Formats: sequence, C-alpha cells, structure tokens
Amino acid sequence: MDVTGTLPEDLEAELKAELDAMDAARGAAGVSDDYLRFCEQVAYAHTRARAAIRSAVSRQPVPKNVEAGSRLTLDEVSLDEAVLMTLLEDIARASRGEDQVDQVRALATAARQEPGLLTRLTAAATLGDDARPLQEAARRLGFPPHALLFMARLLARPFLVEARLRRGEAAELDVRSSDTRNGRCPTCGSSAGLAVLRAEDGARRLCCLGCDEAWLAPRLMCASCGTRDQAELATLCVSEGDPRWLEVCDACRRYLKTIDEARLAGYTIVPMAEDACTLHLDMIAEKEGYVRSAL
Ligand SMILES: [Zn+2]
Ligand SMILES: [Zn+2]
Repeated sequence: MDVTGTLPEDLEAELKAELDAMDAARGAAGVSDDYLRFCEQVAYAHTRARAAIRSAVSRQPVPKNVEAGSRLTLDEVSLDEAVLMTLLEDIARASRGEDQVDQVRALATAARQEPGLLTRLTAAATLGDDARPLQEAARRLGFPPHALLFMARLLARPFLVEARLRRGEAAELDVRSSDTRNGRCPTCGSSAGLAVLRAEDGARRLCCLGCDEAWLAPRLMCASCGTRDQAELATLCVSEGDPRWLEVCDACRRYLKTIDEARLAGYTIVPMAEDACTLHLDMIAEKEGYVRSAL
C-alpha cells in the first residue's frame, strides 16, 4: 500500500518512523509477523484518517481559551462520521486473520445502517462519562463491551491526536510532585499505555496511546491505582538487562510496560510501535494474572 506522496510532510515522517520501529522489532521474542502486519496496516489507516481530518476541520475555527494540559472537549475533537467509517473499513481490511475480524465487520455493517453510530460510540469511549451508548450497542451487536471499547478507542485515536496538535506546542506536563493526578492522560483521559524512563535522568514519562500525549509522573507509583506502597510494586522481565519490562502492582493487579531509553542508545522510541512490538510482555503479564490498565 502506498500512501506517500499525498500526505502532509509531518504525517509522512511520523508514519515512516513508526513503520521503521516496527520493522526493527521483526523477529523479536514472541512477536508474530501477522500481528505486526496488522499494526502496520492500522498505522497506515490512522495516518490517512489524520490527513482526512485535517482537510475536514481546517475550515472550522480553532476553539479559543483552551489551556494546554486540560482535557479535550468534544468540540475540539470534531468527530466526523465519514472519516470514522472509512477508518473502520480500513481496519476491517487489516483485520483479516485477526480474532476480532467478525466483530469489526459486524460493527461496519451496523454503522452503514445507522448513521451517527460511530460518532456516538467514539464520543462515549473517549471523552464521555456516559458508558451507556457503548453498553447498549455491545448488547445489540452481540459482542463484549470491552471489545467495542477497544475498537472505538482505535477509531478515536486520529481525532484525538489531531485535536491535541491543533492546540499547539506546550511545555511537557510534570505531575511528579502532585498527589492528585495518577496515570490518566491529562489531555484525553485514557490510561497511560506505556512508561519510558528518560535517558538523561531516568525520569518516568507516561505515554498515552490515545492521543500521543506524554507527561512526567512519579517513578515509584502505580500508574493505575496510585499506590506508592513499595511492597505492592514489582517488576517482571524476560531477561536481565532487557530494556523493556513490566511494572506490576499487586494492590490493583494492573501492569504497565516500561522501556528504558538509556539502554536503547541511538534508537527512537515510538510509543505505538513499542506497544505493538511488546505483545510478548502483555502475554507474560496476563499469564501471571495481571490485567492492562483499563483503556
Ligand atoms: Zn491521551
Ligand atoms: Zn495499582
């Protein structure tokens, strides 16, 4: 699939970085080629959607008085049913062979029959506090609410990333000394998807896979429940010295994949690619009875 040549320069560069990072991980422990191929196709689909979002919303005024580091509003996110539909169809094509292919197709069929469905679901899955549209749709479509939530989050990603970028550059948010904030993304409210230990000082940066926000958070704290009780916190690794491992919490039984930038000199960390290439860590965590932080 060739989408280059029609994309804004920054999107093309981001896509290339993500694909290169996934390529570098090919053949690594426990990462199947099929799964990486699916993630690559999703990366292409997200990029195409972001280009479409830019042309759709460029005519709309930029919301005023928005503070960097505050939660995005639905107005800023500008969900668009046609872009969502194309993205879903792209994901359906990419899902061939994946377990969830029937569910993706069922959702696409339902969305064709019910205009506005994808906008409602995506809104509920990302910024809405009302989970009822999701629960109701999951019941109607006959699949588990968490599967629908996962899909809606996948659909929301390009809109959230673009909405965050429209706010412009801002200083990195630092909540290391705050007691009130935990591992939820300040911009879109998703749970942190990954943690990266910064090369220069080991500071812990939490990364959101929903909108690509990153923020500095306390090092020794569960990003899920916020406990700082060291007796509850542990690490699981595949081998000593591996730059990627799991941080787990026995208080809430959640885990967070962590990457040590210092051990990856000269390598650019792309969170979405890292997430795809560390599926083996998710499997280890699940085998040990830990679950990923709620999306
Ligand atoms: Zn976010
Ligand atoms: Zn916890």
